[in-house]
Amino acid sequence: MSSIPWKELEHLPGKEQRALQNELLKQFVQKRLYPFSAYYRALFDETGIDPKQIRCVEDLARLPLTSKKDLLPSEEDPERSRRMVLAPDKDLIDQHWGLLDRLPLLLKAVTKGKTAVLEDLRREYYPIFMTFTTGRSAQPVPFLYTKHDLEELEASGIRLNALLGFHRDWRVLNLFPYAPHLAFWQVAMAGFAGGNMVLGTGGGKVAGTEGNLRGMDRLQPEALVGVPGYLYHILREARNRGMRMPQVKTIVLGADTVPPGLKIKLATLLAEMGAEDIDILGTYGFTEARMAFAECPTKDGSSSGYHFYPDKGIFELIDPESGEVLPMEADGELVYTPLAGRGTTVFRYRTGDLVLGGIQTGPCPHCGRTLPRINAQLRRASSVTNLDLKKIKGTLVNMEEIGQVLADDLEIEEWQVEIRKKDNDPHEVDELILYVSIRRSAEIATVRERLRKEIKARTEVTPNEILPLPLEQLLHRVGMEREMKEKRFVDARAQG
Ligand SMILES: [Zn+2]
Repeated sequence: MSSIPWKELEHLPGKEQRALQNELLKQFVQKRLYPFSAYYRALFDETGIDPKQIRCVEDLARLPLTSKKDLLPSEEDPERSRRMVLAPDKDLIDQHWGLLDRLPLLLKAVTKGKTAVLEDLRREYYPIFMTFTTGRSAQPVPFLYTKHDLEELEASGIRLNALLGFHRDWRVLNLFPYAPHLAFWQVAMAGFAGGNMVLGTGGGKVAGTEGNLRGMDRLQPEALVGVPGYLYHILREARNRGMRMPQVKTIVLGADTVPPGLKIKLATLLAEMGAEDIDILGTYGFTEARMAFAECPTKDGSSSGYHFYPDKGIFELIDPESGEVLPMEADGELVYTPLAGRGTTVFRYRTGDLVLGGIQTGPCPHCGRTLPRINAQLRRASSVTNLDLKKIKGTLVNMEEIGQVLADDLEIEEWQVEIRKKDNDPHEVDELILYVSIRRSAEIATVRERLRKEIKARTEVTPNEILPLPLEQLLHRVGMEREMKEKRFVDARAQG
């Protein structure tokens, strides 16, 4: 069936990409999703959609969207995400596959025996690995991988390394938390498949500052990969101890949004340690896609956007309010439909991620690849919080907007945002407090004024207080190296 080598895909013209996607989508819906997913078969049937009606990308708009809450267990359906696992059996295959589809299986049964056919099906469909979603509020949902999916994860790893400009002989330090999360495993599998030396330290919580600095010193990595906040912390420690890192070529950030100012701060630190001409690149991935997408190196340090793979999935942009499909370059929410996965399979999945400027098509001005690129200005919808700043009506505030202002500020080292009730009185209004630790050369009065202005401009709210704290205290507050992910936002209203 229509699979295409990476070398060809990289430069495939847009029209041919669309034709490929149409074909893959048709096959996927008719041969895998509808026959083998109990959840989606029911959804198609309930909404009266014949899988044969899905023939091209535009037809997707006929299908309902799947959102995060559809994955969560409910009273009547405690294992809902299990029904999203593709699970073929003989009856389903007989019922949904035509003779032509079954022919290769029948031939193999005759020539190699039935066991060989069952082994093939097991390799393709039997789950052997899982990662979990990492939502702040909702409970984690497992995403199952089959052997086929692990091979896909390897293949996407090889593509990532190519996009990021990794050389085969580079050594890679993987600072992502050791956990059943996509980020760590994507980097590990990329190393196995691409043949790079990768040291996974397990991140701050597993190896601590000492362990990570020792790993860095021993390995002398050309590439460092990790969560932005932690990478910044560990490189600042390295600089403060007078370490030199002239061999570093590339820093790869993942599992969190990548504020442009943080890239500048990282570049400055590395320059102080003797590294020149480094690329600081962001990646975008999520549990439900079971792969990640990357920026490519640019001369001026601007973002190329995240290149994705049209043969592995389809991204749509929708209006988050109405669910209506928008043009590719619009501001909207990203919706993902996989084309190559087995195991847990979501379809028209609402990522909750809002992207400004949508998706760029046409050749990348930096690397020349024709892969579509998701604009790097992403906001997680899950970080929108309702604040009662006055005794009238709540104000919706995207906490991530505030986080971006703080992370972007070149004079701020570390920060935390707290929402609490005035005087700890549950009947009082909410207060927005910022804790910041600033550079030694910076003036708190100037920083305060700048933050008030920028946060007001981006969110229409003004922080009640901006409190300076020593770096050590702030690192303690955010739980650096104690928590899996730093606690940047604290909602203390419940205890009020
Ligand atoms: Zn590019």
